[in-house]
Amino acid sequence: MKIIVVGAGIGGLAAAISLHEAGLMDVTVYERSTGIRGLGVGINLLPHAVRELTELGVAETIAALGVEPRTLAYFTRFGQAIWDEPRGVAAGYRWPQLSVHRGRLQLALRDLADARLAEPIRLGHRLIGIRSNADGTETARFATADGEVEATADVVVGADGIHSALRALRYPAEGAPPWSGLTLWRGVARIPAFLDGRTMIMAGDGEQKFVAYPLQEADADGRVLVNFIAEKRVGGSGDADWNRAIDPAPIAELFRDWSFDWLDVPGAIAAAEEILEYPMVDRDALPRWTFGRTTLLGDAAHAMYPNGSNGGSQAILDARTLAFHLATADSIDEALTRYEDDRRPAMTALLAGTRATGPERVMLVAAERAPEGFADIDDVVPRAERERIAADYKTAAGFLPETLNERPSLSARADR
Ligand SMILES: Cc1cc2nc3c(=O)[nH]c(=O)nc-3n(C[C@H](O)[C@H](O)[C@H](O)COP(=O)(O)OP(=O)(O)OC[C@H]3O[C@@H](n4cnc5c(N)ncnc54)[C@H](O)[C@@H]3O)c2cc1C
Repeated sequence: MKIIVVGAGIGGLAAAISLHEAGLMDVTVYERSTGIRGLGVGINLLPHAVRELTELGVAETIAALGVEPRTLAYFTRFGQAIWDEPRGVAAGYRWPQLSVHRGRLQLALRDLADARLAEPIRLGHRLIGIRSNADGTETARFATADGEVEATADVVVGADGIHSALRALRYPAEGAPPWSGLTLWRGVARIPAFLDGRTMIMAGDGEQKFVAYPLQEADADGRVLVNFIAEKRVGGSGDADWNRAIDPAPIAELFRDWSFDWLDVPGAIAAAEEILEYPMVDRDALPRWTFGRTTLLGDAAHAMYPNGSNGGSQAILDARTLAFHLATADSIDEALTRYEDDRRPAMTALLAGTRATGPERVMLVAAERAPEGFADIDDVVPRAERERIAADYKTAAGFLPETLNERPSLSARADR
């Protein structure tokens, strides 16, 4: 079975490695960029994704790139504690959560793909067209520096990100990703370690928020490399470019009152070498991913708000699920149907949950009831209510530890 994967991002590379591991050796990845430069800032891999990386035999390589956050804690815009909960193994999952630099993760996956795949990644190939053939194969058309080229395969997987060309060919009227009206400023800074040095924090409300988590262990001098996302409703445009760099100073100024006794937010923003501006956009859920023997994967299928910690993780789950079904189903058509049945309804529900702010709702409730802060959180949002908000999201999103711990493995080998 010949398979084309379009896009060498996290999802496309994970798909190529997963297909190869499942015994489907004839896989070629086509990437628009002329080089994989490892762009981006931090990304979180939830225990779901770390399980798949573990079963692929690459978890140690990836774990060495980042750290395991032990706790997720929510605060008000005044730095007052609202709620905290354990993460990863501490929360009862058999696999940890990992916070890593997206660029380092992408380069590590590229190295693994280079080492394992028979065919090198075809760089400088931008998908521009697709054609179904009478024998059931699909022919993909790419623009390159030397003109257009075509490649034919039994399956074409569109893992080409939030601006997916394959998705646009299937849904030509869809237009740009819808914008929530919030703007995100993402950066990496070396700052004094906060709390226990292993906590991911979120502070703020529905109008303005700050998220930060360590990407490495603290140095001997108590400083740590953190990823942060500052977020505010400020107007502007919803034009989604992952790499738009801007000056940190005006963003630090927006957060000038957010100096807590445990974290200096404006100081962290000002310490970033570079700030990347990104509108909080996602994609509407689709009624269908698979057309003929082409399908969508990762952000191309279900781009979500970046601060839901799900973009990379769900792309890896797509990759493993697709490989499992292509390796085990009786036919390609059956495999693609099973892949879509497993993944599309789950992603439709997760998209809706992420838009509804998920577990962050506890911050909105606290801000609504006590906009100027509080003396005791229990008087504002009682503990039982905070527990319920956290549990409701995990149940709705299928994130309960036992669900993951007891699910059968997606490891499989093709017997044909
Ligand atoms: C440059 C960049 C920086 C990012 N930074 C962050 C970050 O800091 N934090 C975070 O949480 N998420 C970030 N993301 C998004 C994150 O990688 C995804 O949400 C998630 O990993 C899902 O991955 P994906 O493979 O579906 O999409 P992506 O990782 O976006 O990968 C898509 C790939 O497809 C390629 N491509 C696009 N169009 C075509 C085409 N027509 N033909 C061939 N190839 C094509 C792209 O160049 C890219 O390599 C970033 C994405 C990109 C592209």
